[in-house]
Amino acid sequence: MTDFKAIKSLFYISEDKIYLDGNSLGPPLKKMINHVTKMINDEWGALLISGWNKAGWIQKPKNLGNKIGDLIGAERDHVIVGETLSIRLYQALAAALQLQPERRIILSDNGNFPSDLYIAQGLISSLNLGHELRIVDPDKVAKNITDQVAVLLLTEVDYQTSRKHDLAELTEKSRSKGVTTVWDLAHSAGVIEISLAKYQVDFAVGCTYKYLNGGPGAPAFIYVSPRHANKIVPILAGWLGHVDPFSFADNFVPANGVDRMRVGTPPIISLSALEAALEIWSNINIRDVREASKRLTEMFIERVDRSCPKLTLLSPRNPNHRGSHVAYKFEEGYALVQALISRGVIGDFRAPETIRFGFSPLFIDEDDIVKATDIIAEVIDNNLWNTPQLRKRQFVT
Ligand SMILES: *Cc1c(COP(=O)(O)O)cnc(C)c1O
Repeated sequence: MTDFKAIKSLFYISEDKIYLDGNSLGPPLKKMINHVTKMINDEWGALLISGWNKAGWIQKPKNLGNKIGDLIGAERDHVIVGETLSIRLYQALAAALQLQPERRIILSDNGNFPSDLYIAQGLISSLNLGHELRIVDPDKVAKNITDQVAVLLLTEVDYQTSRKHDLAELTEKSRSKGVTTVWDLAHSAGVIEISLAKYQVDFAVGCTYKYLNGGPGAPAFIYVSPRHANKIVPILAGWLGHVDPFSFADNFVPANGVDRMRVGTPPIISLSALEAALEIWSNINIRDVREASKRLTEMFIERVDRSCPKLTLLSPRNPNHRGSHVAYKFEEGYALVQALISRGVIGDFRAPETIRFGFSPLFIDEDDIVKATDIIAEVIDNNLWNTPQLRKRQFVT
């Protein structure tokens, strides 16, 4: 059994805060400061440019990719870290479209994150091959998987409502129709058990700054199934995706496997922080995390049902159908979230009307939920959110 109390003590979160926004940005680990400082002193400072070889920097995207691969059920050496999630999506979708060149439909849903949809739209116009992005309601996705569809492009857990797609079922249906799957695991990696290899997912991407706690803007990852890794031609052919980058050849020849998805120089300081964040997983069982997350979200929903009738639940009631955050609607969601933040309960607001509370079992426990729900009830019962100051929107919500 995972010792969640011990894990919680590894995080740096000040005592007066209940951090219910780990679904958007995970908090730092206490040991990150030493880990990154040591990298700067002992590697960058002492080795300078020879750190690329001597400190193994050049292999870090692959090594950390394998650690993430273990959490998402990937085959060894088929995940690579680096770039941002938006860029990883672009790469994955472009590669996926190559597998069914005679098909023209990219199927997604209106619960997908804007970047995922914008990236698809941008890729369609730059390819100029007549692709169509078909956006349907989440519950209509299965019905729309037909042998006309080239790629199924979905995010497993809806960033707004927390509704969770059945990855296994939709991947299976896609396979039966010859549809290539691209799964975005932004709200899954580190909190939901995933078995990419077992379900024969084709491509997957995700970020590392949400439930993996890698830090603001931490690099993203991409998974390419071994069935495709040596076939696809990378759309962003960068020098580090070349089979022999230090030949400095004029023409691009892709590296073997997922290494061809490398683009440019990896961000080693960020990777160092991510490395510290991923180390804790040697003492964590992802199955325990999923079970704990279901328990915590259940408890939160029950308490809010009882004490905050003015909040309308937007997330599925069945814990098997939701991720690790819970979403509500409230007449003035932004101001409510601001009032809660000023009282130490940190959630967030997503336009037009969603307020979200995330529950990472790595640093949130039952006591936090009791305290948080008491504060939420107090703020709503006494209209403490209702001031012009709290309504004034900042850029990041
Ligand atoms: C967080 C998130 C993103 C953000 O992409 P970045 O390139 O890291 O800004 C994209 N897609 C989904 C589904 C997300 O949840």
